[in-house]
Amino acid sequence: MDFAEPEEHRALRAAVAGIAAKFGPGYYAERAAARRPCAELWQTLGDAGFIGVNIAEEYGGGGGGLTELALVCEEIAAAGTPLLLLLVSAAISAEMISDFGTDEQRGTWLPGLASGAVKMVFAITEPDAGSNTLRISTTARQDGADWILHGTKYYISGVDEAEALLVVARTGQDERGGRLSLFIVPADAPGLDQHLLPVDLLLPERQFTLHFDGVRVGPGALVGEEGEGFRQVFHGLNPERITGAALGTGIARYALGAAARYAAERKVWAGPIGTHQGVSHPLAKAKIETELAALMIRQAAWQHDHGQPAGESSNMAKYAAAEAAIAAVDAAIQVHGGNGLASEYGLIPYWGLARLLRIAPVNREMILNYVAQHSLGLPRSY
Ligand SMILES: Cc1cc2nc3c(=O)[nH]c(=O)nc-3n(C[C@H](O)[C@H](O)[C@H](O)COP(=O)(O)OP(=O)(O)OC[C@H]3O[C@@H](n4cnc5c(N)ncnc54)[C@H](O)[C@@H]3O)c2cc1C
Repeated sequence: MDFAEPEEHRALRAAVAGIAAKFGPGYYAERAAARRPCAELWQTLGDAGFIGVNIAEEYGGGGGGLTELALVCEEIAAAGTPLLLLLVSAAISAEMISDFGTDEQRGTWLPGLASGAVKMVFAITEPDAGSNTLRISTTARQDGADWILHGTKYYISGVDEAEALLVVARTGQDERGGRLSLFIVPADAPGLDQHLLPVDLLLPERQFTLHFDGVRVGPGALVGEEGEGFRQVFHGLNPERITGAALGTGIARYALGAAARYAAERKVWAGPIGTHQGVSHPLAKAKIETELAALMIRQAAWQHDHGQPAGESSNMAKYAAAEAAIAAVDAAIQVHGGNGLASEYGLIPYWGLARLLRIAPVNREMILNYVAQHSLGLPRSY
């Protein structure tokens, strides 16, 4: 087993970190406060080939996998500029279209997703379904060769920035519950109403409630085969969990760096406050949790990239990284005392994002359910 990071990965980390550092936490804090997307950072990374690192070279991507995309997510976040839409556009949409899309869908969407010029966001969550995906009630009904969509989705991130949505809809019923299928729907499709859903997180990316009122799409909108959505979604959610975990370890690294610098400089007694173990131990503990999460991310990404089952490791990585991020940001805020809450020190936006990671893309309890059932063989609880 070789734990040395390959030279090309170290170079990738350095290049991404170099770009993100030019934007930095001040840029992120300003965008988060204004709820404005970090569009320039996204495009600069896209121009340099980093948004599409996991997309095949024939479509203009980097020809890498989730291992590389996770590095990109982590380094951007570690520079204080986390990009939430990488989880949906680059991880879920690009991976699902690459793996399950038709040649035409790949040719139409992957080059734009690879260059960063196009974003495709992901719509699965519904008011009455949430964690229970099989309960979704958005339907797609065939009308001749077309499909007609009806239903409501909510908490859909980045719709205002996206050209299209990857929508999970019910096309029938099977023994599990809803028979699911995936559709690519243009963001400006007639009959698709978008309403801003205000959240009290300081996030550049905005969330939306979407009403599909007879949205008509052509036969080319169906991704893969009708009724295959459940399998596709469960395959595609691993990349989202892996990149979500990488976002978490990146945020944790950023917060720990800021906290360690502050604790080494701030002096209100004889020595710097970092001398006190009440200050240093929470940081050390969060550092350990962050490194453990990072190891599990590498395993999960490797398994996904090698076509091995990655559900268990992706869930564990996401759990560990979200908890590490919360611990790290919380400790960083505490170390900063009153300054931890000051706009000038800009820590609160990362706390909100870290806290979000315990809930989304999959909540902590559903991961514990997964591990209890699949890793420990305990009875299903729900
Ligand atoms: C800022 C933000 C951005 C988001 N972006 C997107 C997006 O782009 N696309 C998208 O489709 N969705 C998005 N979501 C939705 C997100 O994925 C869901 O909020 C998340 O999956 C949890 O679903 P829910 O909110 O319906 O919680 P519910 O399913 O209502 O669950 C609520 C809580 O109950 C507990 N719980 C539920 N079921 C169980 C169980 N079986 N066992 C034990 N405990 C349980 C958990 O603690 C859970 O947190 C976003 C959400 C937020 C807040």
